[in-house]
Amino acid sequence: MFLIVGIAPKTKILDHTPRICPACGLAQARLKRVDSYFNLFFIPLIRVKKGETVIICDRCESVSSEMSSPYYAPQAGKNLKCNSCGGPLDGKFRYCPHCGKPVILKIS
Ligand SMILES: [Zn+2]
Ligand SMILES: [Zn+2]
Repeated sequence: MFLIVGIAPKTKILDHTPRICPACGLAQARLKRVDSYFNLFFIPLIRVKKGETVIICDRCESVSSEMSSPYYAPQAGKNLKCNSCGGPLDGKFRYCPHCGKPVILKIS
């Protein structure tokens, strides 16, 4: 009798909320973590390595790091200021409601 053992990756979906994929622009990317598991008879038994949290697109399968996703940019919109007039922004605006200039997001 043979023991079939090995290390295999196992993808875990951490958050089912779709994110915008930076590669194809569709909201088909999900927050996932690829862990390495010690397998016995193809059954993942022990997690040997905790993988990095990445965003993997279901559609184009492109992998991006969590922080590079544009999904997170508007979320950081607490202390945003317009870099033209300094007026407060809540991160939803593409144009400043105070001076009308296009918003370049900058966290102060
Ligand atoms: Zn994609
Ligand atoms: Zn402004």
